[in-house]
Amino acid sequence: MENLDIFDGHNDSILFMSDYSADGRDFLDRSERGHLDLPRAREGRMVGGLFAVSAHPEIEPKDDLTITDEGYEVRYADALSPEHARLQIDGQVSAVKALIERAQGQIRLTTSADDIRAAIDVSALAIVLHMEGAEAIDDLSMCYLDTLYDRGLRSLGLVWSRPNAFGYGVPFAYPRSPDTGPGLTDAGKRLVKRCNALGIMIDVSHLNERGFWDVAALSVAPLVATHACAHTVCRSTRNLTDRQLDAIRDTDGVIGLNLAVNDVRPDANLDDDTPLEVVIRHIEYLVRRVGIDSVALGSDFDGAVMPREIRDASGLPRLIEAMRRAGFNETDLRKFALDNWLRVFGLTWKDR
Ligand code: ZN
Repeated sequence: MENLDIFDGHNDSILFMSDYSADGRDFLDRSERGHLDLPRAREGRMVGGLFAVSAHPEIEPKDDLTITDEGYEVRYADALSPEHARLQIDGQVSAVKALIERAQGQIRLTTSADDIRAAIDVSALAIVLHMEGAEAIDDLSMCYLDTLYDRGLRSLGLVWSRPNAFGYGVPFAYPRSPDTGPGLTDAGKRLVKRCNALGIMIDVSHLNERGFWDVAALSVAPLVATHACAHTVCRSTRNLTDRQLDAIRDTDGVIGLNLAVNDVRPDANLDDDTPLEVVIRHIEYLVRRVGIDSVALGSDFDGAVMPREIRDASGLPRLIEAMRRAGFNETDLRKFALDNWLRVFGLTWKDR
């Protein structure tokens, strides 16, 4: 069977690139560590993806996880200082530019659906810059958003799973509703409008439910979750309720299926021994709920534990093949793999 071109809605690979981190991996060389580099993308026919820049604390806090009778809870992460976040984001964006320079045409920074198609035509990997968490943006002038737009940013998650000046991310927990706190702040509401005006896609992944409904009420663009799953299947805070899924479908938006085993599995166990069958059943639930036009891939490569049978980007054709065996036709598979993302980009971005 023919392998399909696959565009992926989310990875954290920039954080692990040697261009950014001293102990990082060379993205141009095949590694056995992590999930994604250029050779493994090519093996898996991953033609492009949303590559996240994101800020992190200097010292990652320890002992945050509590195992409960039914599942787990993670202590809510502290807010980051905007100055600290901006330094990290600047470094990561510069690293991507350095990588693209080194790659000599094998990787492109893309800012339109046509750019992505053109990259695919010449077998170059299409990177779309995404920022996960808006803390680097000052909440008054928001001028750093314009700076990032000029440097290629086309997608923004208002929050990661921590509070910031714009809203409140969900604390990680299972089983628990995503309705974990207040909605967007006034600055958050203004940021939604600014993103709409610039043509930056807004990602609701990690946002709590009230924040989601604020975005839904304000945004004129399709609603997008770049990496999330269905709460009815796996009741983690990171997953979307049926009503949220319906709202995404109603705006012609898309959900990128997160392959993180703890959000895919009904029992939320952090166990890579998660058969493809479990992933397929989750996809089937989403498609029954919202239709194939609103379901795509949002792997979370280099940010989560992957099912062993997929393992890394080189294993993506095994997911497509499993969907094919489950009865998805070629048109459906193309929508899931690439076409849905391109449609939403075309509806959201100003560049054609
Ligand atoms: Zn994430």
